[in-house]
Amino acid sequence: MSYTSIIFSSQKKKSRKKFESLLQIIDYKKGLKKVYLLRKLVVKVKFEQILNRIAVIDRDINELNKIKSQLPDDRPYSSGLQLIFDKQITNLLNERNIILDQKIPNPPAWLHTTKNGQAKYEVIQTIPAETEFTNTEPTDQDIMSFIKALPKTEVHLHLEACVNKQTLKQMFKNNGIKISEEEFEKHYTFHDLNGFIQLFLFIQSAVKSHKDFSYMIDSLAEYMRNDNIKYSEVFVAPTKFIQNGIDFEKMMDVIVKRIREIKQEDGTEINILVDVSRTFGQENAMNNLNRVLKLKHPEVIGIGLGGAEQMGPAKDFETVFKKAKEEGLRTVVHAGEDEGPISIWDSINYLKVERIGHGTSAIQDPDLVEYLRESQIPIEICLTSNVFTGKYVKKEENHPVRQYFDQGVYTCINTDDPEIFDVSLSYEYFKMYRFLNFSIEELIQLIKKGIYATFHQDKDAVWKKFETEILKIRKKHNL
Ligand SMILES: [Zn+2]
Repeated sequence: MSYTSIIFSSQKKKSRKKFESLLQIIDYKKGLKKVYLLRKLVVKVKFEQILNRIAVIDRDINELNKIKSQLPDDRPYSSGLQLIFDKQITNLLNERNIILDQKIPNPPAWLHTTKNGQAKYEVIQTIPAETEFTNTEPTDQDIMSFIKALPKTEVHLHLEACVNKQTLKQMFKNNGIKISEEEFEKHYTFHDLNGFIQLFLFIQSAVKSHKDFSYMIDSLAEYMRNDNIKYSEVFVAPTKFIQNGIDFEKMMDVIVKRIREIKQEDGTEINILVDVSRTFGQENAMNNLNRVLKLKHPEVIGIGLGGAEQMGPAKDFETVFKKAKEEGLRTVVHAGEDEGPISIWDSINYLKVERIGHGTSAIQDPDLVEYLRESQIPIEICLTSNVFTGKYVKKEENHPVRQYFDQGVYTCINTDDPEIFDVSLSYEYFKMYRFLNFSIEELIQLIKKGIYATFHQDKDAVWKKFETEILKIRKKHNL
């Protein structure tokens, strides 16, 4: 058992009072003092100073948002200025998160609760080093196997990114493409966005005919079964495949046929959202929509707008989404993953979307957070993916999902690219527990929210089934 102490360190003596974002932790463990210092000078900081700094940050963010909202949006310099404001706000939010992340030993009583009675800081008791502890807390392993056993749904994942290594090797083999083991593995040891894109293209390069999509759906079903995911909505992005000569209709027939067989086999349900893609422009997106409209498969339930967010502003796709809605298709958009709040506003105002993928940058704009809370538009949280991209959040602990959830914004948990990031949906839920202090009760609320965020025909029936199952699992795992 250990307790921690807040320490502020700075390289420059003069700037120590400034309280920059350089908090470090001293950890005492059974009398052994462990000091983690990145800088040489160490100064203890008073609670008042911490609170003052937070107040200053909050004030500055408010001011910046106010000025930002007054910027005209039809001038050539507007987007540049917008980005500068967003950057400054992000820096302040990161600093705020670093400060709030620190554990405070023995805070004064008045610090324990906020106005609405919620605990503001975690209280860590000072315990004599020689005390023996009996650990009654569940281990990480206990929590993980509990989460894995819980029934779940998922709505933000991409078909290519659900193809496991074994299936991919088989697809290469079937299509007569020889890849050495070394070269194959090399693609999976990426560390940056470019490496990620290369792996994505590598997976796409294994697809040579519409029949290959059957293997991809099998791999998705295997991923779902392993993690007790009963229902999913998966993105299928056809543009690249069509460019490579694959027939869209045949490809969708194969996908739907396999989906129906799988549902027949064990009840695992999959529906399709066709990613019309913003990367290839508006005309291509409209062509993709028209292809979807020709299909008569009930499993193809809607369209999504994925691809490079900076390359295609959501508002460019207004007519595509308007038509899709008129034709009864469901609509979702990737927004606020790689662009600021304006991208989310555009998706709401111009595309009238029903769900927002990622929505990470919404935290920068309190008016937007308030709008999301009021409207209850679900945000598809993809924690691992967001930390990997690193645009608006660098550490799991700082992900805004905690704030969204606490402020009543509708959130649901997803993997985005499970086989590429080597994560499961259970692990994403576990990260909520481990890094963002979601309780077991809250995890179950997230599972329920996950169901009601789907476009499933009978969400009440799914929840009823889940509820009974969850009760049994909680009893079994004593959680
Ligand atoms: Zn995505």
